Amino acid sequence: MSKNMKSYVFPGNIEDSILQIGGKPFPYMRTEQFSELVKDSEKMLRSLINCPNGRVISYTASGTGAMDAVVTNYVTLFSKAFIIAGGSFGYRWKSLCDYYQCSSEVFEVPFARDINYVELEDAIASSRPGVLLCQHNETSTGQLYNLEKIAAICKKYNVSLVVDVISSFLSDELDMDALGIDICITSSQKGLNIAPGLSFIFLSSKALQLDFAPKSYYFDFAENLKNLERGQTPYSPATTLFMQLHARLQKDVVLGVEAIIASVREKALYFRELCKKNGWEVPAETPSNSITGFFVRRNSDILFKELIKQDIFIMPGGTPGYFRVSHLGIQSKEDLDNLAERIKEIENR
Ligand SMILES: *Cc1c(COP(=O)(O)O)cnc(C)c1O
Repeated sequence: MSKNMKSYVFPGNIEDSILQIGGKPFPYMRTEQFSELVKDSEKMLRSLINCPNGRVISYTASGTGAMDAVVTNYVTLFSKAFIIAGGSFGYRWKSLCDYYQCSSEVFEVPFARDINYVELEDAIASSRPGVLLCQHNETSTGQLYNLEKIAAICKKYNVSLVVDVISSFLSDELDMDALGIDICITSSQKGLNIAPGLSFIFLSSKALQLDFAPKSYYFDFAENLKNLERGQTPYSPATTLFMQLHARLQKDVVLGVEAIIASVREKALYFRELCKKNGWEVPAETPSNSITGFFVRRNSDILFKELIKQDIFIMPGGTPGYFRVSHLGIQSKEDLDNLAERIKEIENR
């Protein structure tokens, strides 16, 4: 990859000090030194999401690996799951439940719309599921759902709440303990802004009281939790990524969650102003700070490839004319001005 590459995909542009850790010697995993790094990272992760008395399992796997682990270890304990699906990530919960033959019901939310929470409550009242699976930010559209409202409904009907916060963690406000969420999941290549390869399961103290289902060998919660007691993982971890994670978390703890979120928000709002100026519609009703989805008006068939020729990466959106720009990682206002100018230039060809 060239030095001048500009990344508006995940994880975005990463500072040299973190990137360079990837080229350094790494510790043997079965050592005190590595155990300390794992324990310290767990503590910092818990503080960033506010999961005071819980645990964090780290897997060497992408985010979907963590979703898979939640379904096998946890969702299978309940007689029925209720899934909020407003895009491809919501439907991923559905395909995982189908794959592992967990009974589930889908509550569909239209493209880039917020949930109708009155209808949601009615659906839950009649469905009476044991567990609800949703996203905080449905990354395929950039629509952020209201977790206060979802959590209140779950509490009222005694439904366990599992939230995929993969793309909202460190971008949008989130307090796991205050919301009473049982399980949150995230992964390394989004708000943590390091390469893909690690994913995390935040288990609340309440979730930890259950006997998890032993249905997945590699992802087994009990086995992973047992090893975590001494700062270890059952199998070889992506050691280098763990080192980059630790360095990232140390920076994040110093900055503080509020400042990190404020900076992501500032970039998002700035880019959305540019969208407005250029007449690019942003469809999300209540957009997450992490990403802006927008429709260009012309030449959408060539935009993605033409930008790559200029060393600029944005995400195609799956719908004609629709693209997404991430606001994670290093990104200045000048970068965003430049991005918008280049999109406009291609649009006007
Ligand atoms: C990125 C993402 C995932 C995980 O995708 P992987 O490619 O498996 O890491 C899951 N859910 C959401 C909401 C995401 O944004």
